[in-house]
Amino acid sequence: MTRRSFIHSSSLTLGALSLAQQKIFTSFFDDPWKIKELRGGVSVFTERGGTIAFALSKKGIVVVDSQFPDQSKHLIDELKKRSQKPFKLLINTHHHGDHTAGNISFKGIVEHVLAHENSLKNQTAVAISQKTEDKQLYPDQIFSNTWSDKVAKEKISLHYYGAGHTNGDAIIYFEDQNILHMGDLVFNRRHPFIDRTAGANIKSWIQVLDKTVNNFGTSPIYIFGHAAEGYDVTGTADDLKAFRDYLSKLLEFTDAQIKAGKTKDEILKATEIPGAPQWKGDGIQRPLTAAYEELTAK
Ligand SMILES: [Zn+2]
Ligand SMILES: [Zn+2]
Repeated sequence: MTRRSFIHSSSLTLGALSLAQQKIFTSFFDDPWKIKELRGGVSVFTERGGTIAFALSKKGIVVVDSQFPDQSKHLIDELKKRSQKPFKLLINTHHHGDHTAGNISFKGIVEHVLAHENSLKNQTAVAISQKTEDKQLYPDQIFSNTWSDKVAKEKISLHYYGAGHTNGDAIIYFEDQNILHMGDLVFNRRHPFIDRTAGANIKSWIQVLDKTVNNFGTSPIYIFGHAAEGYDVTGTADDLKAFRDYLSKLLEFTDAQIKAGKTKDEILKATEIPGAPQWKGDGIQRPLTAAYEELTAK
């Protein structure tokens, strides 16, 4: 049973519980979010959607990604309890709703919002097509290849290495703490969403991950947008290499299937990518479809 359906079916019987039981029940669901400090004031916040990172310093607060409006409100409320300092900067790793829909909760609170130029284009295009422009807080600052600055007390740099999960994924580096937020460039042991409508490209994605490991090495703590159940949203360069290998195997497998004359429907029946057994669970059709389309595109 999913948590949502549990809450739904349980709330019907809530009236039958004693007051004390009700209190336990509601406090259990009051606080579903989690904060985990990594080091030096940089932490991750998880609730629903892509992993949020934030940096607290004496001079101000920097936040990376915003999940959904309710989630970012939970984060903002909690950070206001921990710090009187201003929200200096909100960074979006890319435009997807589970990373930017919560931007709106920072309206009038944060000084600037920053993202890759393609992320802004994608966010705008999606909002126009879904008629949700009034629910957006768009970046007021964009970058193309690299960006770096000292924000609050944090030395931060952003890097763009080309198309991957979309065509606008930024890698965010907290230099002093040696922590990198990869956004959805890494799905830790979970089948990824590959957004070809927003310029995703698997071949290029593999190069982006190689470049990241070559440039930053094995010493940083890496933060991932998503992880499979039982796996962490933070990890090491080994996790990046494992995901890169998964993407290589995905292309290799799909290519071999196409060359063997298999139809798209036949290929989509696969339940595992050979050579990547750690990627289990549902959602395998998404990467297979993307790989098929990328390999057969004219
Ligand atoms: Zn995501
Ligand atoms: Zn995404």
